[in-house]
Amino acid sequence: MTHATRLLDWYDRHRRTLPWRAVAGKRAAPYLVWLSEIMLQQTTVATVGDYFHRFVKRWPTVEALAAAPIDDVLSTWAGMGYYARARNLHACARAVTEQHGGNFPRSEQELRALPGIGPYTAAAIRAIAFDEPASAVDGNVERVIARLFAIEVPLPDAKAVIALRAAELVPTQRAGDYAQAMMDLGATVCTPRRPRCVICPLMADCQARKRGNAEELPRRAPKADKPTRRGVAFVLSRKDGAVLLRKRPARGLLGGMDEVPSSDWREGALSVAEALKEAPVPAKWKVLEGGVRHTFTHFHLELAVAHAIATTSGLARLAPGSAWCTIDRMTERALPTVMRKVIAHAVKS
Ligand code: SF4
Repeated sequence: MTHATRLLDWYDRHRRTLPWRAVAGKRAAPYLVWLSEIMLQQTTVATVGDYFHRFVKRWPTVEALAAAPIDDVLSTWAGMGYYARARNLHACARAVTEQHGGNFPRSEQELRALPGIGPYTAAAIRAIAFDEPASAVDGNVERVIARLFAIEVPLPDAKAVIALRAAELVPTQRAGDYAQAMMDLGATVCTPRRPRCVICPLMADCQARKRGNAEELPRRAPKADKPTRRGVAFVLSRKDGAVLLRKRPARGLLGGMDEVPSSDWREGALSVAEALKEAPVPAKWKVLEGGVRHTFTHFHLELAVAHAIATTSGLARLAPGSAWCTIDRMTERALPTVMRKVIAHAVKS
């Protein structure tokens, strides 16, 4: 029995229900595979499930998603983080609709020319949706391969050799099932801590298991510490409880999302008195006890939260593009998690 046969045999008995399988049955449509793969980047399967079903219900085809206003896509995505993915998702739906007649292309080159589709997503679509022998290496597969071949080189340097080894193993038959089997194996058996080697279909071939150091692999180069940025978020409310929001610039961090206004986010100690000068309007700002902490990919953010009730003279000085939103309608807005934390903190205080 080859390694692929053993793995597929295991997969036939243990396959998990991932979002696209639950919706699409045997062979998932490229649209569904693409949608779930984009969502699963940096977000867990448990979180993605609800979002995936919400998206598919609202936009059942790539053409429907392409025709949606970007604000609707961002607000439906809100809470999953990494919002560049949502903007790329929308841009990609448009490109597939306009350049490919609503059909995802099969070739790696054409897939990778689409917004937000990198080598992993292209390979996942080719394998899972088209059954092409493409090698999709996500974090789970990376771990399985590093252990199977006892690759001691730390990540990220090990990526090239892992990709090479993974590609050598892809079978010509049932490539889609094989790709999902590898992902499932990494997620459920070859787990980061305490891999369950005794029930693993690859146990006989696994070099790390033989050496007894599976749990130490893959090794990782030490990460640089993340810096911490600090600022003040300004929650301005009207007497009816509505809160002032504004839109972030389309490009950059949280691009195009809604937010409560805030001072610049800077590294180093926070001078609240200085930051209050950046308030959106003059008002009796009161800094609330406690604050909000949030971690982005490259930095931690600590926000003090200031609150004020809007006055008639202050309202006259609001920047264009500002909008009022009542608390019960916040879920309809494209508010990133950090801003939801800020509003929750203000409401609680
Ligand atoms: Fe992972 Fe253990 Fe299987 Fe090796 S034998 S691939 S370490 S679960």
